[in-house]
Amino acid sequence: MEVMTTTISDGTAIRQEMIAACNNLAHLGFFISTWGNISVRVEEGMLITPSRMDYAQLVPEDIVLISMDGRKLRGERVPSSETALHHLVMTTRPDMGAIVHTHSPYASIIACAQRALPVVVEDMAQIIGGTVHCAPYTPGGRHHELAEAVTSALGDEAMAVLLANHGVLAGGRTLEEAMTACRVLEKAALLYLHAEMLGGCYRIPDAAVREERHRFLYKYGKPEA
Ligand code: 13P
Ligand code: ZN
Repeated sequence: MEVMTTTISDGTAIRQEMIAACNNLAHLGFFISTWGNISVRVEEGMLITPSRMDYAQLVPEDIVLISMDGRKLRGERVPSSETALHHLVMTTRPDMGAIVHTHSPYASIIACAQRALPVVVEDMAQIIGGTVHCAPYTPGGRHHELAEAVTSALGDEAMAVLLANHGVLAGGRTLEEAMTACRVLEKAALLYLHAEMLGGCYRIPDAAVREERHRFLYKYGKPEA
């Protein structure tokens, strides 16, 4: 499988893109205060947001560079407390070039009920590509335990997973795709909860989800053959 990597020259542009994404997520209410974090795979390893910093105050140098064997390579700041989680997901999912962890409210409702979110709508089938399972609850601070539980619940198909009583992790080939996955996941959670209130939400059959995902990855926006 191709390893999705963002190519950088001095890294400033992607760091700025990460900061803009943080502010965008805060504006959407998906990041609250300093909760939530972002990583992007680069040639030297992985860029990750710092821990417990106000996103509105971030400057490019605050983003920390971690090697793929888990060492801090560059940056003065403490890397996100979820670095082990981002690192393990990046290692096991080469198709993810960027990962976003949020506390977005509607998806968090499903995570608090410790339920999975089935594929219920077309854009979710395309960008997420499978059922979003829920990893068991792990108290904050048990970073490696959380990383193992979340990576195992994520599996190798869907581009997102729920963290019980905590939030969401979503990935994409690029940061832009990971951001879209977060927004589509949140919208799917909202639709699912409301459709269930109407008497039951229909799921898109697995074969159709695979067809949608394939179309999104290889055909969407390209001339028809
Ligand atoms: P950091 O500020 O350490 O990235 O942690 C935020 C968070 O969401 C913890 O789950
Ligand atoms: Zn969190």
